[in-house]
Amino acid sequence: MSKVYWEKNIETLNRKELQKLQVERLKTTINQAANSDFYKKQFAENKITAESINSIEDIQKLPFTTKQDLRDNFPYGFRSVQQKECIRLHSSSGTTGTPTVIFHNQHDIASWANLTARSLFSAGVREEDVFQNICGYGLFTGGLGFQYGIERLGALSIPAGAGNSIRQIKLMQDYGTTAIHAIPSYLGHLHEVFESEGLDPKKDTKLRLMVIGAEPHTEDTRRRIEELYGVKAFNSFGLSEMNGPGVAFECEYQNGLHIWEDSYIVEIVDPKTLQPVADGEIGELVMTTLDRQAMPIIRYRTRDLTRIIPRDCSCGRTHRMLDRITGRSDDMFIIKGCNVFPMQIEGVLMKIPEVGNEYRINLETINKNDEVLVEVELQREEFRDEYDVLSKITKKITHDIRDEILVKPIVKLVEHGTIPKSEGKAVRLFDHRIKN
Ligand code: ADP
Ligand code: ZN
Repeated sequence: MSKVYWEKNIETLNRKELQKLQVERLKTTINQAANSDFYKKQFAENKITAESINSIEDIQKLPFTTKQDLRDNFPYGFRSVQQKECIRLHSSSGTTGTPTVIFHNQHDIASWANLTARSLFSAGVREEDVFQNICGYGLFTGGLGFQYGIERLGALSIPAGAGNSIRQIKLMQDYGTTAIHAIPSYLGHLHEVFESEGLDPKKDTKLRLMVIGAEPHTEDTRRRIEELYGVKAFNSFGLSEMNGPGVAFECEYQNGLHIWEDSYIVEIVDPKTLQPVADGEIGELVMTTLDRQAMPIIRYRTRDLTRIIPRDCSCGRTHRMLDRITGRSDDMFIIKGCNVFPMQIEGVLMKIPEVGNEYRINLETINKNDEVLVEVELQREEFRDEYDVLSKITKKITHDIRDEILVKPIVKLVEHGTIPKSEGKAVRLFDHRIKN
């Protein structure tokens, strides 16, 4: 029988043993983290040692770590090993203030590569595959993170990098690419380039599966991508503070994203009270590294909103599943007293067949009122100069968005290809409101 799991003993470990392993590793992590300036001080102030932990619930004795803590202690405040032991850093772009930086030693890079390999394997990638990694290499973790995972798994990697769609297509054809990883917002665009070259990825490539992640997207967006390429698209979740890709991943059953609990402790908390919510309820994802030496992070408030799916998966893995991320708490905007997440709007748009893959949400002040102006690209063939047709679609979009967010938007249909695309993660929300 062919191999089903990458590491059967860990992936199918019974929950009791898994928790025992977590408690042991949490103790080790506390001892390791105590080498850093930040945790040394925090542990002393709160009288925390590894002995404080006797059960998994004891993690609640530990304070949270926030993105601001990482920024305030930039660059070395969280480093728990000597400089000479570190072999790589990854960092956020830092365009919106002090960047956050994560350091790794040999152990960390090996452990991360293994987690990414385990993730890819669970989605069905095998040694025989030719895997093209279509995303930025460099400080962004999606490039090297997947690269090391593909190599560890033993598939043939094509480190294609981001952009240059014609070249991507050529690589896919030249080497018979069977699997790709890309950001979901890029795949609509890539498909258009296929079309304009007179090609159809379903017929003119050997593609058999895709991995998509790094940015929020709805189930309908995923289904659209699957239809465009004619293969399954597996959701990959990660964040640089927790390494990058390889944190949580969909297995072949696509029931949710198994989060690797031998390497992370997952908590879901109410973002206001910071108390745990019941399994199955949505809250903020809080994560603790359990297998990192150069820079352990404890109870990190990711700001991502999601829930634990309170079900077992048919694949036999015992690691619990996260639901897809509904948004980041800092993406939420308040308009006319209503709390709105951009994903709610995407959710509505992607259900309407005439709507294309691109949209943009602009918050504007018009005549002293705050308004949500949604620019929507239509499918190429839909944008005709027929007033009736366009007005019908506009009405439908306006109505459906209003139903979802309880605020009536101003909807503007635009021609296919007019909304600018970014090479990295898509930016969909622009706040131009006049603040007073
Ligand atoms: P940045 O915080 O600068 O975007 P990261 O690359 O670390 O840098 O991004 C991690 C974040 O990206 C996550 O916290 C989450 O908000 C988002 N993200 C990553 N993967 C997914 C996914 N599969 N679905 C939804 N959001 C995701
Ligand atoms: Zn599964």
